[in-house]
Amino acid sequence: MDLLEFQGKQFFASYGIPVSDGDATTSVDEAVEIADRVGYPVVVKAQVHTGGRGKAGGVKLAENADEAREHASNILGLDIKGHIVEQIWVEHASDIAEEYYASFTLDRSAKQHLGMLSAEGGVEIETVADENPDAIAKIHIDPVVGLTEQQCRDWVEAANLNPNATEGAVDILMKLYTAYVEGNADLCEINPLILKPTGEVHALDAKVSLDANAIFKHPDYEAYDATQPRDEREKAAHEKGLQYVGLTGSVGVIANGAGLAMSTVDVVNQVGGAPANFLDIGGGANAEVMANALTVINNDPAVKSIFINIFGGITRGEEVANGIIEATKRVEIDSPIVIRLDGTNAEQGREILQPHLSEGLLMEDTMLSAARRAVELAK
Ligand code: GDP
Ligand code: MN
Repeated sequence: MDLLEFQGKQFFASYGIPVSDGDATTSVDEAVEIADRVGYPVVVKAQVHTGGRGKAGGVKLAENADEAREHASNILGLDIKGHIVEQIWVEHASDIAEEYYASFTLDRSAKQHLGMLSAEGGVEIETVADENPDAIAKIHIDPVVGLTEQQCRDWVEAANLNPNATEGAVDILMKLYTAYVEGNADLCEINPLILKPTGEVHALDAKVSLDANAIFKHPDYEAYDATQPRDEREKAAHEKGLQYVGLTGSVGVIANGAGLAMSTVDVVNQVGGAPANFLDIGGGANAEVMANALTVINNDPAVKSIFINIFGGITRGEEVANGIIEATKRVEIDSPIVIRLDGTNAEQGREILQPHLSEGLLMEDTMLSAARRAVELAK
């Protein structure tokens, strides 16, 4: 669950991390009111789920109300990497002496948290990592021990920040680590973390990704969840109670069980195709569920063929076969369907399907051959 910058700043502020005074709005008039309140100069910032806003013209300084109005009206409606700006954040502008980078994320292979700190902030960290990897000080944090103040100090020293920034940076990084852990974040990034000419250290940007599975622990995350950009296909599928993830290919995938659905996505890739989605219909494969799954996939204009991959377990082959036949009567399908049916009572299931097979409804013996067929048909 990726937060907008202003939500990330609210999240940081709730852990005592200093951020600039500001407010979010969708209107130009209100933007000027906010600017008047926080005091000039102000920064007007596009609130979109993507980075690099500065370069795209989505971050502008305003010295007075006229400039604030002009920037607000230019930024609202702006297209930043395909994201249309509907909301802006206006904050009191900060004087910057230096720009740093700081983040915490999970290093899965190390099974530890990873902290990254660099004196070369403001620019994209990927660029620093490519061109000057030594400029990033990295630490691994044992999740059981946590980040100790000594470790944090050594880390700040290793990053070669301005000595004036040491105390402020240690303070913010300790708080950022707490926010990252207690807030169940997958990523907390501040870029730039700034040193002001007055010596204070301050978060000027916020990139926060929260673990959506932890919403139940944090009732206030519902508000963040509400502003998440949704894939229309995913919305329709979730309303029907289907486990669906939208992908960018042309082979629609239906499988029973998350493991088989993932393997189906893999095998489509393996034979040179591209799956349009992941879809797990779960244990039951009755006509109702199958019709819902086919409807969602059929409504995706990118889909050119459909691969139904079922391994009968508790759900028996003949139930699945009847479910598929009944579903194809209920829903008009535009793309050819390739079925692979195996597992419990697969023989009976295949016998039931046999008389219904056509150019639009094909059956293959194995997962691999079915994947090949579906991929061919999608070309
Ligand atoms: P991003 O481009 O999406 O990462 O947006 P940022 O919030 O990081 O802003 C981009 C750049 O705008 C920063 O690196 C700063 O150089 C500049 N900027 C943002 N806020 C201020 C501010 O309050 N004062 C000044 N002087 N520059 C700012
Ligand atoms: Mn930034």
